[in-house]
Amino acid sequence: MRSGGMDRSGLGFRALKIGADARWAAGARWAGGALLDALLPPQCLTCDVPVGAPGQFCAACFRRTQFVTEPCCSCCGLPFAAPGQGGISGRCSDCRAEPPPWTAARAALLYDEQARRILMPFKYGDRVETARALAPHMARAGAALLREADWLVPVPLHRWRLLGRRYNQSALLAQALARLTGRPMVLDGLRRVRATVSLGALSRRDRRAEVAGAFVVRASRALQLADARVLLIDDVLTTGATAGACARALLAGGVARVDVLSAARVPGHGAA
Ligand SMILES: [Zn+2]
Ligand SMILES: [Zn+2]
Repeated sequence: MRSGGMDRSGLGFRALKIGADARWAAGARWAGGALLDALLPPQCLTCDVPVGAPGQFCAACFRRTQFVTEPCCSCCGLPFAAPGQGGISGRCSDCRAEPPPWTAARAALLYDEQARRILMPFKYGDRVETARALAPHMARAGAALLREADWLVPVPLHRWRLLGRRYNQSALLAQALARLTGRPMVLDGLRRVRATVSLGALSRRDRRAEVAGAFVVRASRALQLADARVLLIDDVLTTGATAGACARALLAGGVARVDVLSAARVPGHGAA
């Protein structure tokens, strides 16, 4: 772990403090887990089959998990059915029609039922240890982007939502990736300036309107991020509305290039 590159100040640190309850609960679970491990083997991430180490899939669940692989859209990472589907640009039709503000987006998993079994307890059920399990898969999918990134920056939660949920799952993913790859991160590089409604039921157009202008670069981080190459870390890329709003905010704040790395990607949407 390269702690020298870690950001440990500002709101990121306060956010971590707010997440103390969650970490305490997770710590207790880990401590409990350590105790139980002496008696019971660890369980698969998504079922109760015993596995070799915590955070692993059993063989059946691993087979069931769909990883995003090439060929895919060079811009949004949408999987292609066949090589060459993106034509000369390598882009899907949505990205050709309306290029997203980021340069390249990649995801580890296809967001299907199996990915939901992994991500819903992570997002809403205090299963914070899932971040460590997902990080190697994200590192594989985003290897080229991680190599070139100056800073990993997570999609922020609004502080009210952070209080309710106690941790930001995207920040946990960024931390796990930073630990695994040694890339530096700025946990509080972006600030969510207003709360947004849940995007789940909204159309693509409404999603984009809902998150437009919801993010800004934190003033105290502007100099640090200026002219840098930022890798935005998110849990699920759906239509790309949230990641797009974050990318626009980063670029408006002086960042040179934004790429996106998410744990999962909804396969039926192009990004807009
Ligand atoms: Zn399993
Ligand atoms: Zn695309």
